[in-house]
Amino acid sequence: MSPARHAVFGHPVVHSLSPRIHGAFGAQTGIAVAYEAIDAGPATFADALAAFAAAGGTGANVTLPLKELAFDLAATRSERAERAGAVNTLVRRGETWHGDNTDGAGLVRDLTDRRGLDLRGRRTLLIGAGGAARGVAPALLDAGIPDLFVVNRTPARTDALADALGEPGRVHPRHFEQLGELGEFELIINATSAGRGGTFPALPRSLVGMRTVAVDLSYGEASVPFLAWARAHDVRDVIDGLGMLVEQAAESFELWHGVRPETAAVFEALQARNASLVTA
Ligand code: NDP
Repeated sequence: MSPARHAVFGHPVVHSLSPRIHGAFGAQTGIAVAYEAIDAGPATFADALAAFAAAGGTGANVTLPLKELAFDLAATRSERAERAGAVNTLVRRGETWHGDNTDGAGLVRDLTDRRGLDLRGRRTLLIGAGGAARGVAPALLDAGIPDLFVVNRTPARTDALADALGEPGRVHPRHFEQLGELGEFELIINATSAGRGGTFPALPRSLVGMRTVAVDLSYGEASVPFLAWARAHDVRDVIDGLGMLVEQAAESFELWHGVRPETAAVFEALQARNASLVTA
């Protein structure tokens, strides 16, 4: 039997680790996997996805900058995708796509199961309001974050995210200029793509306390600017997005194949590879 055809869409996507991760999951579970990376931007995504379906594609991951567009293209959506307003996983159902979002479950699983963090009671600052931020915010609230402060370069997107989450007592949209007034956070999450350009918005030292954990959803070189800022400000626990990447992929794999793969060995192999590539 020929393998189910899956792909990751995004731009740029050439360096995506998803084909490698899904290949490893397939080898581990004995499921034949054909998983490719397809470069598509907002102008070409709808046509590329239609061509993929016509060629037998039955599952797709969607990455930057297409998650909100994928939400619009999905005919049906899971509850967590609805709450996120963003889709990172598409499952072919008959003639249409079903949209889901595994980013939040992936982040929470990495932080709790792999790193042993108890998220309950952790006052949290989320930087960014794009597709990734939208994916992780509902899962963080479900995991027991008492207060979620959100800042973004474009304030209208901060407000839109806060409105979509619909918990005004727990979700607090703010501006970058207000960060100096907010006190310490136990969890600071960078969900921007700024690091891809080698930069990061300036943050005040007053955000950091004894218990602060800094998490960048990016990995590799893109996580260097924020994690370097955190280390320079005495944050002891810094975590990049590699663990989340593997966990959200496992969640997608289960949606497509009905089997949950083990993630530890895949994560460790990628981490070792990453450490040799990143010169931070
Ligand atoms: P989007 O394009 O949807 O959003 C990008 C976000 O970054 C927006 O909030 C944008 O702000 C902000 N941003 C971009 N450049 C700058 C800058 N120079 N200064 C300040 N803010 C900036 O991307 P995603 O949300 O999909 O992805 C964000 C990052 O998260 C990426 O690096 C991606 O690789 C990573 N990610 C990792 C995952 C994992 O599994 N580890 C999963 C998903 C994403 P504005 O609204 O103003 O444009």
